[in-house]
Amino acid sequence: MRLIFVGPPGSGKGTQAKRLAERRGVPHISTGDLLRDAVRRGTDVGKQAEEIMKAGKLVPDALVIRVMEDRFRSGDCEKGFILDGFPRTLGQAEALDRMLERVRMPIQVVVLFLVGDEAVLERITGRRSCPVCQTPYHTRFVPPRIPDRCDRDGAALVQRPDDSEEKVRVRLEKYREETEAVIPYYERRGLVRRIDGEVDPDRVFEALEKAVEESSPKS
Ligand code: AMP
Repeated sequence: MRLIFVGPPGSGKGTQAKRLAERRGVPHISTGDLLRDAVRRGTDVGKQAEEIMKAGKLVPDALVIRVMEDRFRSGDCEKGFILDGFPRTLGQAEALDRMLERVRMPIQVVVLFLVGDEAVLERITGRRSCPVCQTPYHTRFVPPRIPDRCDRDGAALVQRPDDSEEKVRVRLEKYREETEAVIPYYERRGLVRRIDGEVDPDRVFEALEKAVEESSPKS
């Protein structure tokens, strides 16, 4: 299975991608995770991406495409993959097509997660995590026992620099301006399946499995 997950930030596509990838035994590839890792390691790419990511803007296509080409080369994608957060522009979608044409492995399904702006803001601005053990929290949905402290080790919880309301609004704007353009690109090939991302996560997962089952071959 070769899938792309598209949706605004906070639409749950990362969580769902992880779950489906584990169940199907294919890699979950998130360009956000790959870029954050590059920033942590202080690589060339990381240095160029860091400030742009903090501002909630999009990292230039050339850089993200390089990251994806490297990721595909690691050799675990033959059985398929789930792309989460890539492509985010038309230029990236075209570059992805060129990469996949070379190995004759076209995209089979594009899953679009539908979530309104209000839900996105509530979900993302409440996200916190423990810098020590990485346990995720949410100020409203999964609050720690003591406000702003990790239940496990008492460390002060942190917020991703791009999860403030101001940065989430920028990210939503970039999504509307740039990323939504990839939907008609795949729609022309009949690959897009829409999923309601505002219902509870188990129901989203059921709908996701059904959509993928109905439209993708077993390969
Ligand atoms: P995410 O974890 O998917 O929300 O991505 C976090 C940030 O990484 C985004 O706000 C962008 O700054 C950057 N990023 C991730 N994927 C891409 C992409 N495909 N194109 C451009 N920037 C990206």
